[in-house]
Amino acid sequence: MEPTAATESISVMNPATGEQVGSVPVDSAGDVAAAVARIRGNQPAWEALGFKGRRKWLNELRDWLLDNSDRVADTLKAESGKVRAEATIETPYLADQINFYGSKAEKFIGEQKVRPNSMLAATRKLRLQYRPYPVVGLISPWNFPLVLSLGDAIPALMAGAAVVMKPSEITPLGLNEIVDAWRNEIGAPDVMTVVNGGAETATALIDHSDFVGFTGSDVTGKKVMARAAETLTPVSLELGGKDPLIVLEGANLERAANAATWGGMLNSGQMCISVERIYVEDAVYDEFVDRLTTNVEKLEQGVDGETATCDVGAMTMMSQLEKVEKQVDDAVAAGAKVLTGGKRGEGPGQWYEPTVLVNVTPEMSVVEDETFGPVVTVTRVADQEEAIRLANDSRYGLCASVFGPRGRAEKVARRVEAGAVNVNDMIFNMLAPSLPMGGWKESGIGYRNGEYGIRKYCRSEAIVSARTLLGSEPLWYPYNKSRHALVNKMTRFIGARGLRRFRG
Ligand code: NAD
Repeated sequence: MEPTAATESISVMNPATGEQVGSVPVDSAGDVAAAVARIRGNQPAWEALGFKGRRKWLNELRDWLLDNSDRVADTLKAESGKVRAEATIETPYLADQINFYGSKAEKFIGEQKVRPNSMLAATRKLRLQYRPYPVVGLISPWNFPLVLSLGDAIPALMAGAAVVMKPSEITPLGLNEIVDAWRNEIGAPDVMTVVNGGAETATALIDHSDFVGFTGSDVTGKKVMARAAETLTPVSLELGGKDPLIVLEGANLERAANAATWGGMLNSGQMCISVERIYVEDAVYDEFVDRLTTNVEKLEQGVDGETATCDVGAMTMMSQLEKVEKQVDDAVAAGAKVLTGGKRGEGPGQWYEPTVLVNVTPEMSVVEDETFGPVVTVTRVADQEEAIRLANDSRYGLCASVFGPRGRAEKVARRVEAGAVNVNDMIFNMLAPSLPMGGWKESGIGYRNGEYGIRKYCRSEAIVSARTLLGSEPLWYPYNKSRHALVNKMTRFIGARGLRRFRG
């Protein structure tokens, strides 16, 4: 049921066990307005702290996250049904973001002297200042509850903005715990807060924010953009994907199959950048498919015990599980073949078996639409041209991988339509925050990470300062013939090149 203010609270369930693990109150539109107003009032003092002052508080947050990483992982594991190995990767990512933007923010958004492009512009001192949007609203999904909320809050805070986050109603506990620690254990300024709820709460956040960062499905992303358009509020949208992986003849097939297994099944395939469609050149198809299927069959799915570790966790949302099940069943009914998996796992909890599908066709939903589950499809292609054509035949363009001899694989990578392409590698771009990460086509608008990941939270302000203080300027009033002739001569001299400067 969609949580609304009338629902009062959200009950959070462990998808791996079916047990209730916590609850949070729902924030009404009025609560959201009040939360935004409160932190809006605190933002100027935060901005005035400067880079050094803000970095100090974020470094304290980093230390808290690292010191409490087990506690945070326990909460993430309980609310999402992830395996432990995957619940523990979020805090190191956040620490890396804090270190990256802590050391680079000033370079990216510090005041810059700007070189004049012409003699006319050189008569003034030109500078560029970046000022933060006072309140940044972040709306996030459930698959990486901290990376996709707090991870985006870090550059916004370093830019001097105050941040209100609306976590997914499915996994709000970890983020609420951290924001509580920011305020009560770390004692940091009240410039980062959380509001809880579903669409109603998120919509109110859009209405009151100065910039909206949204991560989620393309369907919701379009609604966010439409709502933000009503107040001309800028947005960045990090949306879904249908990531292709291309395997060329001459690839290291062991590495390619291991990468495809991990990239397809990581977080139970509930990742915007998980591998979904694999295209393999004819000469290496059979060996690759054998290796991949053997790998996937060996994966342990379940709940980690005291000593035993599992590879693949639960499906966090029942509605996604049902969607994945329907995509696979429909594909099989239309002629696809299941090499392993292909059905729900047994309860308690919500499970879908790691699945490899072949004999698929482009019009099947499992090939065309995002599959938020542990399912990969493998297609035999005649050559690299067919692989590139099929990889690009998608409304999405988030991430991709190409495996093959380096030179050829890099050439192919440059022709793939995606925000990031990993060559002989798997989603490594996520671990390189100096590179932008964003989607092409319906995978999004804007980027996180790199310079853009912090500049997007700022407005540019051009500061122009006169070098001389004459009583008047040739361009100003009064207009008369002699001034007009002088201005014409000057502008021609500046605009023209060669002897043309002196004619006319
Ligand atoms: P979702 O779109 O259903 O929900 C995302 C967020 O939007 C939630 O917080 C939800 O409460 C909120 N929301 C719901 N209705 C809204 C509305 N009308 N207006 C504003 N906000 C609203 O997505 P999800 O199921 O939580 O997450 C899965 C999707 O997220 C997948 O499509 C996945 O590919 C995508 N995703 C993208 C990235 C990326 O970086 N590109 C990363 C992770 C997930």
